[in-house]
Amino acid sequence: MSRIAFVGLGNMGGGMAANLAKAGNVVRAFDLAEAALVRAVQAGCQRAASAADAATDAEVVVSMLPAGKHVRAVYEGEVFAAVPAGALLLDCSTIDVASARAVIAGAEAKGLAMMDAPVSGGIAAANAGTLTFMVGGTDGAFARARPVLERMGKAVIHAGAAGAGQGAKICNNMLLGATMVATCEAFLLAEKLGLDLKTFYDISSKASGQSWSMTSYCPVPGVGPETPADRGYEGGFAAALQLKDLKLAVEAAHGVDASVPMGAAAEALYQAMTNAGMGGKDFSAMIRFLNGDRS
Ligand code: NAD
Repeated sequence: MSRIAFVGLGNMGGGMAANLAKAGNVVRAFDLAEAALVRAVQAGCQRAASAADAATDAEVVVSMLPAGKHVRAVYEGEVFAAVPAGALLLDCSTIDVASARAVIAGAEAKGLAMMDAPVSGGIAAANAGTLTFMVGGTDGAFARARPVLERMGKAVIHAGAAGAGQGAKICNNMLLGATMVATCEAFLLAEKLGLDLKTFYDISSKASGQSWSMTSYCPVPGVGPETPADRGYEGGFAAALQLKDLKLAVEAAHGVDASVPMGAAAEALYQAMTNAGMGGKDFSAMIRFLNGDRS
């Protein structure tokens, strides 16, 4: 049992904090939104008055915040000054690599161990405790982080040094965005060429065009395993969140002079889809967008 501060109790953080409390930890939780705080208390967390208040006396601090600026504000503005010496800090948000490295360097300058630990898996996985964590930082910090993260996930992988967790996450999600666009294109072309889409799925999911976007998350309703396509593209992984991750990937690529033309093309398409009012749809609704359907 540990004393854990949890900051950011939104769609993802709410379920994660609940799982830490369920495992018997004392979880002092904070969110700017009152409704999120009330849900966390109902799930067994203790209410804190601020991020600093939550961090006082914490052995571990976990955060699940929207973006780099929120993470910097919470740690640099509140947690660093409040947290006891020896505490372990784990930021699970998906943020830009530069901010992740800057915050971790700031923590280390104060003698605090900190890791970036972004997740793969959506709200259902956060609630069920089946997330995959990609973790960046030192071996010593990882050994301490693993048992905490295992309470919220099914896989905890040490990706490398500070920032490597964010790097792995955005490279993976850039690949996901690009393969989803390509899979949608292929189905639309197959249809116009007169192929039966179930037959094309059966062929391509066993042939060299196979990918997770095809086999496990098919964008065509009634084809392959059940996916958001079978539910009108509701739920799942929102196109706006896919766009966020593609922007982070392209921004990181610019920072290190890497060439990512497919990632940039996917970013432009998800931007256009979001501009068309489809950002709340599952990202596989790209097939509708490419087909001129804006519903
Ligand atoms: P969310 O907007 O539902 O939750 C974020 C929470 O942070 C909100 O409740 C907000 O009030 C709170 N917050 C913001 N600033 C704060 C501050 N200064 N102090 C305290 N609380 C503050 O977002 P989410 O869907 O839970 O996503 C969180 C992170 O997880 C993001 O970085 C996102 O990219 C990543 N992520 C999301 C998913 C998903 O499917 N939703 C999947 C993987 C990763």
